[in-house]
Amino acid sequence: MILESFKENNGEAEVCSFCGEDKASGMWMGSEKTIFCCKNCAIQYLPQLMADAIVGGTLESEIKDTEKRPVEITQEHTILKRFHSAFSTALIVKVRNCH
Ligand SMILES: [Zn+2]
Repeated sequence: MILESFKENNGEAEVCSFCGEDKASGMWMGSEKTIFCCKNCAIQYLPQLMADAIVGGTLESEIKDTEKRPVEITQEHTILKRFHSAFSTALIVKVRNCH
């Protein structure tokens, strides 16, 4: 799925799917639902969700095997690189849309 820049719907801001309180500033189009996220939850909670999803999808036996670490556990650099790329792209899109 593709993360798209967030637009308000008919002037009414969507509420964050995580905290249910703050106005969403980003959205993700899932296969069945659209997920909305506020800035605070993106900073405070989404990194934990990512870690839980990666580690949760990895077998305990794979984690304990020091000679054959699963790809998911050894890919922190790739994850960080992807985040920096996505962050830069979001900044560029934001600056371009300011004019
Ligand atoms: Zn939130």
